[in-house]
Amino acid sequence: MTGFDSFLVVDWSAAKRAPVNPSKDAIWLGFVQDGVAQEPIYCRNRIDAETRLTEIIRTEQDAGRRMLIGFDFPFGYPKGFARIVTGKDDPLALWDWLAAQITDTPEGVNNRFEVAETINALFAGPGPFWGKSHQDRWPGVPYRKIGIPFDRVAEKRSCDRGANTPSSCFQLFFNPTVGSQALMGLPMLSRLRRMNGVAVWPFGAWHDAPVVLAEIWPGLIEAAVKAQIARDGTEIRDRVQVRLLAGALSRLAPEALTTMMKDIPAEAREEAWVLGTGHASALCALAQGSPLAPPPLRDDCFALPAGVDWTPVNDALEALRARLHPVVGQGQVALKAALGRVLATPVTARRSNPPAPNSAVDGYGFAFDSLGTGDQVLPLCDGRAAAGVPYGGNVPPGTAIRILTGAILPDGVDTVILQEDVQCDGRQIAFRGGVKPGSNARKAGEDVCGGMEILPAGRVLTPADLALLAATGTDRVPVYDRLQVAILSTGDELREPGEPATPGQIYDANRPMLHALMTQMGFACNDMGRAPDDRDALRAALDRAADTSDAILTSGGASAGDEDHVSALLKESGALSHWRIALKPGRPLALGIWRGTPVFGLPGNPVAALVCTLIFARPALGLMAGTGWTLPQGFDVPAGFTKRKKPGRREYLRARIRDGRAEVFASEGSGRISGLSWAEGLVELPDGAAEIAPGDMVRYIPYGSFGL
Ligand code: AMP
Ligand code: MG
Repeated sequence: MTGFDSFLVVDWSAAKRAPVNPSKDAIWLGFVQDGVAQEPIYCRNRIDAETRLTEIIRTEQDAGRRMLIGFDFPFGYPKGFARIVTGKDDPLALWDWLAAQITDTPEGVNNRFEVAETINALFAGPGPFWGKSHQDRWPGVPYRKIGIPFDRVAEKRSCDRGANTPSSCFQLFFNPTVGSQALMGLPMLSRLRRMNGVAVWPFGAWHDAPVVLAEIWPGLIEAAVKAQIARDGTEIRDRVQVRLLAGALSRLAPEALTTMMKDIPAEAREEAWVLGTGHASALCALAQGSPLAPPPLRDDCFALPAGVDWTPVNDALEALRARLHPVVGQGQVALKAALGRVLATPVTARRSNPPAPNSAVDGYGFAFDSLGTGDQVLPLCDGRAAAGVPYGGNVPPGTAIRILTGAILPDGVDTVILQEDVQCDGRQIAFRGGVKPGSNARKAGEDVCGGMEILPAGRVLTPADLALLAATGTDRVPVYDRLQVAILSTGDELREPGEPATPGQIYDANRPMLHALMTQMGFACNDMGRAPDDRDALRAALDRAADTSDAILTSGGASAGDEDHVSALLKESGALSHWRIALKPGRPLALGIWRGTPVFGLPGNPVAALVCTLIFARPALGLMAGTGWTLPQGFDVPAGFTKRKKPGRREYLRARIRDGRAEVFASEGSGRISGLSWAEGLVELPDGAAEIAPGDMVRYIPYGSFGL
């Protein structure tokens, strides 16, 4: 299939004629013609809109431009509805039926409530159409939804349930009036689709058609619309929506659009589907005009407000949060390789779980309605239903069938009794009365409905998420590329473990620790080794790191002393912010940009290096990696220690829980690596003064809350 050249997005309306001056509640057409965005077109009424659409379809076809036209109302109704109205499961037959029934005038006077009455009369009881402009007119249309059973057809289609939209195609009045829009829109579509070259997605042969009509929903780009209106509050909302959505569709990579059009569940053939469902964030990004490659960070992203002396931890975090954004590209990985990866776009269930009603136990199935009162004896029918081996026949009323856990409920079965509750002689079963209807039967989609968003963008995938993705039919997962983090130790005194070392030399402890931290947090590590306290060597090492990585973690040399070359170089490059954060242990932390790559200049002391990594680097790197800003979950627990602290800075103590109390390491010395290893988490003491006695509540953050 080739891509499209032109994109038209229609914001339909069921309202009466709109004013001469462009307003909301009219019909708006957003148009990107052959890659060039046009001014949105204003139509005062539906007849005017249909004329314009017909003209545009002809013009684009004559010019040899393939066109996608999106309409913002449902193209189909919930499963089973078309058959009740037309006798066929064909949604297009329903369009034609409506086209024959619905009347409209240039003033917008129409008979939609009468037509809704006609359809409602085909159902026993009230509804399914409801809502009207006059409480006393159209007795066949209930004023309110209460009491409508929605038993023969569901209230919403699978994709509406999945997208969690408030709208139902049966609601005719009170916002959202999706039902009225569809009744007044489908007759037009019935006419448009009969034009030469026009096809309808996802019904019929749309693959190579010169003009394809598709259902769209501006709600998918709501975030972009909001942002645009916040920037320029004067534009009419509907106009913004069609303009941005047409722009987003036109900027989509043709392969991505093809995937969106092909990747839809089976029920969409009758109920239709909203194009782009599950791709809201990609569409939003495109609507805002941003290309999919993330923009670079700004050089001043670490600059602190002038005049600030000691920055409170929360202010420092807020500053990082405001200035960093995802810097990684996107791709797809196989499901089994997706553990710990970050979802780049929300994932939508490709099928329901369970896909079909089935048995939750080993037992016997039957129709609840066929039971009498009191104790029961039912003859068994031949055969059985097992998981993966369905029973093809129909189970007659008043008989039971052997059924095993996970087996699809055969026709005629809605209730299952546990085998332990039954006496069976091989020909019939006997059991006590009091069985509840539907017991031990799992409903189709009771866990997850096909089309529903199951995981949001930014999610770090867990083992359970992989099960959810697998069960709902996803095998390729859209993920962000792994954030590449370079790790570099600095200091003339450092040696590699295993090497000989003089008493003046120490082994590099930070590098293996930081490497392990980054790995556990899901980032890719680039080991840059050690750099001596020498400007040129360090400069070369930073260059190499910036070439290969999205972020750089250094340790040591971050304060302002003679041998603190990391901070000196960052200052030289013009992008150092020496962050004086009111944090213990933490000083000094140097944040800067080296050739466009952010550098977290961690303190050399291993304890401080670890705390700064957990408290500052982790959320910042997470944001750059696409997870959003995540803070660790702490718990209030009684202290098992005594401590007095002055106001003015936040403190983190190496801690662990024993006997329900937080105990802290005996020494607070920031070179004491044994305490880091002894600890299983951190106790966080607030910025103000504190006097802690045993039993007082303190905040404990387990290492696990940092993803370790
Ligand atoms: P600096 O920030 O370079 O002044 O280092 C502060 C302290 O941390 C000094 O005692 C260093 O020897 C020590 N240190 C620096 N880097 C490391 C490292 N990679 N492993 C262990 N200790 C280190
Ligand atoms: Mg040093």
